[in-house]
Amino acid sequence: MPIPKWTIKGIVDDYDTCGCCGRRGLKRTVAFMPLDADGKEDGTAEDVVYYGTSCAAIALGWTRGKVTDTARAAQAERDQRDN
Ligand SMILES: [Zn+2]
Repeated sequence: MPIPKWTIKGIVDDYDTCGCCGRRGLKRTVAFMPLDADGKEDGTAEDVVYYGTSCAAIALGWTRGKVTDTARAAQAERDQRDN
C-alpha cells in the first residue's frame, strides 16, 4: 500500500470538477489536504484539492467504496466540530 501523503478532509458537493483529470459535472468530490513528511497537515484551506471519487481511489490505491466511506466519516466529523 502506498504511503499516503494526503489526508481526506471530507466530501463536498459544491465542487464539481476533479483536480486530478479535470472532469466536470461530478456529483461530489473528495477534499484532500497535503501532508508533510511527518504526516501532519501541511497547508491551509487554499491547498485543499478536490478529486472525483474514481481518481481519489486510484490516487490512494483504495476502492471507491472505502474512499467514499472515509470521506463521509471525515465530513461528518467536521460538520460536528463546526456546530
Ligand atoms: Zn479525475
